[in-house]
Amino acid sequence: MPYQLQLLGSPVLRKKTEPLDLREDRGEIERFLPAMRDILHRREGIGLAGPQANASLRVFLLDADRLPVEGHGVFINPEVSSSGREVYEEEGCLSIPGIFERVKRRECSHVEAYDERGELFSVDLRGLAARAAQHEFDHLEGVLFIDHLSPIIKRMLRKKLREIRAEAEKLGQVG
Ligand SMILES: [Zn+2]
Repeated sequence: MPYQLQLLGSPVLRKKTEPLDLREDRGEIERFLPAMRDILHRREGIGLAGPQANASLRVFLLDADRLPVEGHGVFINPEVSSSGREVYEEEGCLSIPGIFERVKRRECSHVEAYDERGELFSVDLRGLAARAAQHEFDHLEGVLFIDHLSPIIKRMLRKKLREIRAEAEKLGQVG
């Protein structure tokens, strides 16, 4: 299937991603980055990870126009280390539409990654940008933000989550 937004229930969202080979995978990188940008902008998200675009690859995007990320929008083979105090803020996910819940994250993230030209860079993020990086990095490990919610909250969301999974099935994403 081409690069389309995957919804909860699509197995690719639960798979740990493979690192990209910046030389060998050049062609694929040039194909999926525009597709990922397209999904991100059309759905008005602030971040998107490879699996969400049906590519089980270690890459995520952050919207450099809306987040203080020092102009870095593409993170290939990223390493994210987080520090600082733990903060609860509301989060959502393009793959789990309509659900917004408070998630505990660290306040700061140090991210090292390659950009689309294959240059290694690092950036220190705070607040929403740090939160977005942690959220997107989770996607590369097959983890979704709802995994961080308490059993009680998850129970309350059960019906809505079921509806999203049914939608994924209708779109032929469940396999
Ligand atoms: Zn997400």
